[in-house]
Amino acid sequence: MPCSIKRSCEHDFPSFKVRETTLGYYEYDAGYVRPEKIIAVQIDEARKKGVVLQFDERVLAITSIAGGVSISTDKQNYSVQKVILAAGSWLGGFIPPEYQQLFAVYRQVLYWFALADRSSFDPVRTPVFIWQLPDGEGGIYGFPAVDGASHGVKVATHNMDCPRTDRASQSRGKGARTARVL
Ligand SMILES: Cc1cc2nc3c(=O)[nH]c(=O)nc-3n(C[C@H](O)[C@H](O)[C@H](O)COP(=O)(O)OP(=O)(O)OC[C@H]3O[C@@H](n4cnc5c(N)ncnc54)[C@H](O)[C@@H]3O)c2cc1C
Repeated sequence: MPCSIKRSCEHDFPSFKVRETTLGYYEYDAGYVRPEKIIAVQIDEARKKGVVLQFDERVLAITSIAGGVSISTDKQNYSVQKVILAAGSWLGGFIPPEYQQLFAVYRQVLYWFALADRSSFDPVRTPVFIWQLPDGEGGIYGFPAVDGASHGVKVATHNMDCPRTDRASQSRGKGARTARVL
């Protein structure tokens, strides 16, 4: 249940300066994972279950064939029954032109602020946060100084100002929204 968090912020999380009217909730079980480590674990677990992994192989085309799908890569061709495509922001290159307009890739700018004093931004005093700002300023999210004061505190937005394909607006809008809300 969301509730005013001003008092608990002042007491537990002094790095957040919130208004009396700010609502929030705290997830006791929340946290973060190091992506490199968790990906390594997942690769390991997949191998143990018999999954065959191919690295450094670029997919060039995926086409329907009788009874399945053909995948051409820069190394070989595969014929398979089904494909699960997880190409992230490269997905647009694999879908028919009529669907490409449904996808856009937006540049995300991240900031790390070095700290003179880590103490109020260490993971005990500052949780991972997502903060919807008032007055239509959008939202920010961030992480405490998990790697020490010199690596700083991370703050970013989900920036939807600036599609990657639009080069003119990319240079003009370079992190504009993120900078505005910080
Ligand atoms: C700045 C930023 C911050 C984020 N922060 C968080 C966060 O704090 N927490 C969170 O949960 N999520 C976060 N995310 C989201 C998270 O990174 C994505 O949701 C996740 O990476 C998506 O995984 P995926 O495997 O679908 O795609 P991706 O991780 O994008 O992987 C796609 C893969 O496809 C490969 N590929 C592309 N084209 C080809 C080709 N032709 N042949 C072979 N391989 C190809 C690419 O090399 C890549 O390895 C963040 C994302 C961004 C951009």
